[in-house]
Amino acid sequence: MSRIKIKSRQGTGKGLIFDVKRFAVHDGPGIRTTIFFKGCPLHCLWCHNPESIARGLELMVRSSRCTRCYSCVAVCPKKALSPGPKNGPVVVDRAKCDLCGICAETCVSDALEIVGRRMTVSELADEAARDRLFFDQSGGGVTLSGGEPLAQPAFAIALLEELRARGIRTALDTSGLANGDVLLRASAAADLILYDLKIMDDAAHRRWTGVSNALIFDNLRHLSALGTPVWIRIPLMAGVNDGDENIAASIAFLKTLPAVRRVDLLKYHKGGQEKYKNLDQMSAFRIFEPPSEDRMETIRRAFAEAGFNVSLGG
Ligand code: SF4
Ligand code: SF4
Repeated sequence: MSRIKIKSRQGTGKGLIFDVKRFAVHDGPGIRTTIFFKGCPLHCLWCHNPESIARGLELMVRSSRCTRCYSCVAVCPKKALSPGPKNGPVVVDRAKCDLCGICAETCVSDALEIVGRRMTVSELADEAARDRLFFDQSGGGVTLSGGEPLAQPAFAIALLEELRARGIRTALDTSGLANGDVLLRASAAADLILYDLKIMDDAAHRRWTGVSNALIFDNLRHLSALGTPVWIRIPLMAGVNDGDENIAASIAFLKTLPAVRRVDLLKYHKGGQEKYKNLDQMSAFRIFEPPSEDRMETIRRAFAEAGFNVSLGG
């Protein structure tokens, strides 16, 4: 594996976060606070969080909330906003917008939002620590998710270390597409890894996610040798990765990895269309079909019979 230099905790600056969700129950054990990092190196065509992909701030325009008062049009210093056709909801010229956020502060209808906040390790740890009692009572903690947390490697590792120093248990939810040394350092700082597995065939993986699965699988093999517990998460889309061949290959691969403690099968759900529209990214939006209930049960049984602790829904 190649080596990159990871800065010490001092100097990690601020991370770019797009959401902090309290009382999450699907991102690891117990009650959790999930911190969503902005920026992802994959472009999975089924992604229902398009705001997680870009590495910078974005302006979200929720047309359905716009009352057409046009106060935002008046305050925009770049003249990037204008009434929509036939005095419709406001529209943005993204080429002119510099993401200053003045319009979002002006809009009382919450129709405009700058997606992404730059936060320090201490700010995030303080926010998470508010729910320490719930974590302790439920066996929960904090999950770093995204986007891809390891696309901001020094910050993600510093946050994991800070939370551990405060006695808060952590999970890292990762696509696995990261520098190998970064992943190993992050895994040493976390109590649990949630690791995505999508498609075993590399050509299909490239077609549906935009990247090869070679590094992702290599990283998982190395990670498993270290012993940090791993929960595998498999999003399932009909006709993409729910076929017998991919399921059998997934099971055969995972059986070689002793650190895998559990497999979560995540049935695709339709959603996210509104977000693509609000970001003017409808050209990237694709609709898939979820596997049927029967097919999900067949897949669940295949993993269970292979000896995995398997759950539907995560
Ligand atoms: S301020 Fe808000 S509600 Fe008024 S036009 Fe702008 S986006 Fe619409
Ligand atoms: S973020 Fe700033 S530049 Fe962009 S539309 Fe709003 S006010 Fe104008």
